Amino acid sequence: MNMLTVSLFSSLKDITQAIERAQAASPLAAGKVTLLAASKGQPVEALQEAMEAGITDFGENRVQEAAQKWPSLREQAAIRLHLIGPLQSNKSRDALDLFDVIQTLDRKKLAEELAKHWNAQSRCRSFFVQVNTGREPQKAGILPEEADDFIRYCMQDLGLPVAGLMCIPPHDMPAAPHFALLRQIAARHGLKELSMGMSEDFETAVRMGSSCVRIGRALFGEFSRG
Ligand SMILES: *Cc1c(COP(=O)(O)O)cnc(C)c1O
Repeated sequence: MNMLTVSLFSSLKDITQAIERAQAASPLAAGKVTLLAASKGQPVEALQEAMEAGITDFGENRVQEAAQKWPSLREQAAIRLHLIGPLQSNKSRDALDLFDVIQTLDRKKLAEELAKHWNAQSRCRSFFVQVNTGREPQKAGILPEEADDFIRYCMQDLGLPVAGLMCIPPHDMPAAPHFALLRQIAARHGLKELSMGMSEDFETAVRMGSSCVRIGRALFGEFSRG
């Protein structure tokens, strides 16, 4: 084993144990929590190590980067690829062919474009609506007060299979109220999946019902990003 393998194995073990402890500590916790490796900027070798360590879910932020890295990698093991970065509507078709899950559905024009191209042959099988819980102008996501109408529009009018919600809370604030808000909105629509929690706050997220934590730095290391 090289150094990378050793450190990835040990950080994965630490994270998995922390998730299990958080699950055991809270009645709100989901029965199953997916650990998604946020792999933006990671070289192919790091992704191979992560796959060998047993990670099955990966999140990429850019369509183009994913298109370069993943088609050959995914022949090596059964993995699920998630889009966790903003999607331009003109890249909808590419994204539907490349990703198993698109977690960043956040506006009408994009939803309409995805609905136009999504069909039984698409690799993409489910969508998450991203909610801008902190109402940050620079951040993607539908505003909380528009989320109910938007979710209904995506599911009922467009027939998109929305499985859950995703959020990225503001950096400089406690994350718990944001996770609680996401959970509330999801409950109104009977949505089971909650993609919330990153390296800094995944234990809080799991305690509050996250079913998918997106971990980058705690898994791959602080300085390893290209
Ligand atoms: C990079 C990224 C993550 C992982 O962040 P870390 O703080 O490195 O764990 C999670 N979600 C999204 C949308 C990201 O872009």
